Order: sequence, then structure tokens, then C-alpha cells
Amino acid sequence: MDGTTGKVFIGKIPTVEAKIEEQTDLLTLLGWADELAARKDIRILPDGRKAPGLQVWANADYPKDAQRARSYGAKGIGLCRTEHMFFETERLPIVQKMILAETSEERTGYLNQLLPTQRKDFDGLFEAMNGYPVIIRLIDPPLHEFMPDEEKLFEEVVTMRVKGETKGLKEKEDLLASIKSLHESNPMMGLRGVRLSIFMPEIVEMQVRAIFEAAADCTKRGIVVKPEVMIPLTGTVKELEWIQPRLVRIAKDVTEEKKVDFQYKFGTMIEIPRAAVTAGEIAKLAEFFSFGTNDLTQMTFGYSRDDAERNFLVTYVAAGILPKNPFQTLDRDGVGKLMQMAIDDGRKTRPELEVGICGEHGGDPDSIEWCHMIGNNYVSCSPFRVPIARLSAAHSALKYSGKKIAEDK
Ligand code: PEP
Ligand code: MG
Repeated sequence: MDGTTGKVFIGKIPTVEAKIEEQTDLLTLLGWADELAARKDIRILPDGRKAPGLQVWANADYPKDAQRARSYGAKGIGLCRTEHMFFETERLPIVQKMILAETSEERTGYLNQLLPTQRKDFDGLFEAMNGYPVIIRLIDPPLHEFMPDEEKLFEEVVTMRVKGETKGLKEKEDLLASIKSLHESNPMMGLRGVRLSIFMPEIVEMQVRAIFEAAADCTKRGIVVKPEVMIPLTGTVKELEWIQPRLVRIAKDVTEEKKVDFQYKFGTMIEIPRAAVTAGEIAKLAEFFSFGTNDLTQMTFGYSRDDAERNFLVTYVAAGILPKNPFQTLDRDGVGKLMQMAIDDGRKTRPELEVGICGEHGGDPDSIEWCHMIGNNYVSCSPFRVPIARLSAAHSALKYSGKKIAEDK
């Protein structure tokens, strides 16, 4: 069906992907929206300073996504989930060996094999976003996600034993034992995020080296880079005190080795309620906050995001217990309030603290309005949602133009 004319066509007809570059009316409208949101007096901060409205950034893991985001008008990358790069077919076997390594030296050996490809990934991102900030999140998921499926492997081992096949059996048995040792009852609350970085620092050390080597190479080619390294799932400032100085040391080593200078930041995601409540402390180290509202919603409500949406949430919304699905539209009274508190406390420690959001809510108009009201600098969403987010940022700018953000609430 042609959604504009209402014409219905029988059968499959050839189609082409719409190109935003050709939508001149839309581009004009979005240009006006950006101009409005960028006006320097759109918001008045609690200390009386004037500030512009929201910028719109995008979540992008690969250079092609970053290029698309840029063509849709994104002014930065708010989240690059680096683990996606580890899942690629030729890299995954090395990643698996790296995880199962028994010594730090062995692990570093495999990581050194991954370093050139990671560097290439980041190089492409910086090139695509020339002049704009790129937030790269260090590895986040639990390690079992990179390993073969435990149940399937168990079946293979049992089948081989039953058939009396011995060739390759020992390797499979050893692999199964290793996967079992990684098993956690509740992996989303287990060894992941910054905890994993502290448990196995070699992985993030490689990632930070790759980020800074790529940034240095791009700088030498005349590209303006603004890397921002993001540490996920922080719960206490002590975690940052443990890991961040080691990573900053690597950044400094690389810029000295390569004799280049560029702006960079180290910051964290705020996705655990404890981090929001202790944001004043966390901002002593973190130069920016990005609200991971998928996890923050999950952990504030105590709902498993992988399960809630396919069972009780529908009933809850139908019964009026929840007004909307909180994984789609930010729950202002709970999660939103934690965000507001975190921004206020964070900026008491660090007045220039950059604040964004990179959970799914970053592309939802109602949630974008809340981000405007509490003083976020930007929202980051999927590239396809960037145009809607630009309009929403302008709507908020119009609605609250020139108001003190504290009064908005
Ligand atoms: C989040 O938790 O909101 C987030 C962006 O991280 P992820 O969805 O990758 O856990
Ligand atoms: Mg998260």
C-alpha cells in the first residue's frame, strides 16, 4: 500500500529505499527545527546561565551506520556498542580463545590479533563523523554471549559419547566445562560492564589502545576527532577509581607515541540506580554521563527487560497499573526523577558535565521532552529515528522556550 495516496497494489512490486537527501521539503523543515533548538537562550540553567536546546546524536556501531546517521542530521555518535564488532565471523573464534585463555599473557596474545581490526572499525567511525563527538562504549555483555550455546554443545558431546566417537571429543568436553564455569544464574546482573573490565582489564586496555591509535592516525590525515570513552554499568565511583586511570594512561601513552594532540573525554553510563543516587561522587571522575535507560528502567522497576515485554507488561498497561510500556516511554516519576537527580548532583560537582541518553527512549518524543526539561545536552537514538528526534527537540524548545529548567519540572 502506498501510505501517502492510499493506493493498494496487488502482488509484490519493485521498490527503492527512500533517500533523505532527496526529500527537500523535509530537510528544510528539519533545518528550521535544528535552528530553533540550537538557539543559545532556549533554556536557563539553575545557576542563571543560558543554554541551547537538545542536540540529536545517534547510536551507531559501524561506519555505514554512522554515515547514515550523519545524513539524517545526527550531530554525534552517542553510543557505539563495541561488542557487536566481536561477533563477526572471522573474529569470534579469536574472541572465544581470548576468553578461555588461562594466563594474562595468553589473553593479551589473542587481543593483539584483534587490535588491528578494532582500530580499523574506529578509524571508519571517526572518518564518518569528522568534526563530531563519537562515544565508544567499552565491552559490556556477559562473556557467555560470545560462546557457543551450552545446551547445543552438551547434546553434541552426549551424541558423540553414545556413538563412541572419540575424535574431537576431548576438545568439546573441555569447551563445555569452560562454558559451564562461565554460567551465571542472572547474567544481566552479573559479570558484565565495568565489573568485567576490572576482572579482565586486558580487553578494555586493548580497546582503548585501538580507539586512541585510530584517533591519532585520523588526526594525522586531517580528520577532526573527538573520542569519548564510555565505561558501562558503573555502580560506585570506586569502580571508576580502579579502572579509569589505567585507561587514561594508555590514552596518554598513545598520544605521546604518535605525537598528536586532540580532545577526548572519559565518562560513564548511568544505568544502575546507585550510580544515579551517587552521581555527585561519580562526576568527580566521569567527564560525561550517558543515561542507559534500558538498564536503568530494568533495574529501577526490577523488571527483566528480556522477559517483561512478552508477559506481564501488556496486562499491566491494560489494567492501568502502568500508563505506558516504560521500556518505550520514560517513566518520568521514577526513572526520570533519578535522571533529574543525577544531573543536578553531577553538575554540582562538575558544572560543565555533558549529559545524554542512549537507551531506546532517546528516540521517543515524550521521553525527549523530559530530557529537554531536566537539562540533557543531547539525546541519542537509532539513525532512523533521528529526524523525529530533531522535530521533538524543536517542539520542546518551542514549548519551554527561555524557561528556567528547574521551573519546567
Ligand atoms: C541501556 O542500558 O540503555 C543501553 C544503552 O545499554 P544496552 O542496551 O546495550 O544494555
Ligand atoms: Mg545497558
